[in-house]
Amino acid sequence: MTADVVVIGGGISGLATAHDLKQRGHRVVVLERQALPGGNAISERRSGFLMEHGPSTMSAHVPVANEISRDLGLDHERCDLGDGIRRRYLVSRGMLAAIPMGPFGLLSANYLSPLAKMRMLADFFLPHGSDGDDETVMDFCSRRFGQEFAERVIDPLVAGIYGGRASELSVSAIFPKLVALEKEYGSVSLGIMHRRREGGKMPGSRLFSWRDGIATLPGRLARRLGKTIRTGVTVRRILPSHDGFDIDVGNKGRLQAKAVVIATQAHVTAQLISKIDPEGAGAAERIQAPPLAVVFLGFPRRNVAHPLDGLGFLTSEAENRNIIGAQFCSTMFPHRAPEGQVAVCAYIGGARAPDLARLPASDLIGLARAEFRDLIGAVGEPSLARVRHWPLGLPQYASGHRALIEKLGTADRRHGGLFLTGNYFAGPSVASCLCVAQETALAVHGHAVDCRRQGRRKTGCLDQSDGALRDGSPGHRGKPRRTRRSFRAMDRSGS
Ligand SMILES: Cc1cc2nc3c(=O)[nH]c(=O)nc-3n(C[C@H](O)[C@H](O)[C@H](O)COP(=O)(O)OP(=O)(O)OC[C@H]3O[C@@H](n4cnc5c(N)ncnc54)[C@H](O)[C@@H]3O)c2cc1C
Repeated sequence: MTADVVVIGGGISGLATAHDLKQRGHRVVVLERQALPGGNAISERRSGFLMEHGPSTMSAHVPVANEISRDLGLDHERCDLGDGIRRRYLVSRGMLAAIPMGPFGLLSANYLSPLAKMRMLADFFLPHGSDGDDETVMDFCSRRFGQEFAERVIDPLVAGIYGGRASELSVSAIFPKLVALEKEYGSVSLGIMHRRREGGKMPGSRLFSWRDGIATLPGRLARRLGKTIRTGVTVRRILPSHDGFDIDVGNKGRLQAKAVVIATQAHVTAQLISKIDPEGAGAAERIQAPPLAVVFLGFPRRNVAHPLDGLGFLTSEAENRNIIGAQFCSTMFPHRAPEGQVAVCAYIGGARAPDLARLPASDLIGLARAEFRDLIGAVGEPSLARVRHWPLGLPQYASGHRALIEKLGTADRRHGGLFLTGNYFAGPSVASCLCVAQETALAVHGHAVDCRRQGRRKTGCLDQSDGALRDGSPGHRGKPRRTRRSFRAMDRSGS
């Protein structure tokens, strides 16, 4: 079988790339190892509860997230984070401390010491740091806002979003906007004030999902892609062929493709490209993804003392808890628990405690129940308890990550027609994956148009005879480019 483009991996990154390419008129095939597409976006309804085993929210600050919901006709199922949610919680000395939403939330709460609050304000006056260093998030935030803020606010945040440690992750890779603000205004706080005055959007907490959960998105993309997707197919190897690629799918045979998009997790990408792009494989291999476990628990409302009037809570490493954080699922969105019941979920493991994430399900449920008993007064048997192990959780944007991405983002320069996409490029959020997918589709399309312009067929070039590949073809949202993205998507991802 021959296709213009084969997309390997049917998670959100692969599906969104394939969908975009299909709209541009390319003949696409998606190969997905699992029986169902969607990757780690798995929503499951059981006994009246809606469980999110992977992602649970989309950021409404990222235009592409809103666009895709609208374009796929999903807006009528959309649920935005409840207006009544006015706070988040951080664990402080074994108790939940409420932090009001909004720019001055931390200053008005009692979570940080008065000295730490004053030190935060020093950011307005401090000179900016040295250029060129790939500072960790912890170093950057300690330098600008003080150590207490970095350890007690930023570290829990980084653990909650990236499953990582602020002392290990690169600030320029995960918070590029903060670095840019410091560079431009000399102070992050001043920069934020300027941007607000100019009406610019800053990262925020506007989150949304759909009535039946996040899996609604890959479900709808898959429906639109139809027979384009082949599930239960594991790609073993990719080899160069005389006019593109030979894709080995084990006992299911071989496929020929003129271009390949690899949309798998970084470690799988490393294996798949080891023969055709050893340099890229070396870079992908270095991206770690520590294990993560999600424990979902349902309780009768009367058995939980806490009002659950927020998004959930995060814990700093100093608190020495067994969970990174938790979400109050039934507060965030409607229809997540049956009448008279509430739903919460705990995140365990990540870079902080990888071994905990590998514990058997029963132990993880025990750990989560103990934490919820302590922190939110949840007692008695849960009505429902489920665990999802993610042996390789979220990609870690460690120091040096940008250099790895520069290498991975230019795979097609080393091997024409080879494109990589996924959650290790511009942030792990679903919205970031969508931004990168859009860039990837544009790059593949640009490659095809370049081949046509050159007026000859060459290795890795798509079929010029396909009339749909003309500039300005239906669904074409921009001018195709030859050069590959680097970090453009990151700026749009709200990171
Ligand atoms: C527990 C958890 C909670 C999260 N919470 C949020 C959240 O609330 N909000 C948010 O925005 N993001 C969240 N994320 C991050 C987000 O879900 C992911 O980064 C994103 O879904 C990744 O999508 P992807 O398509 O790049 O990768 P994946 O979903 O990993 O998809 C890769 C696909 O490739 C397939 N594959 C692998 N190898 C092969 C092969 N050899 N052949 C064929 N197919 C193959 C896999 O089966 C998989 O389907 C969370 C992630 C996790 C794990």
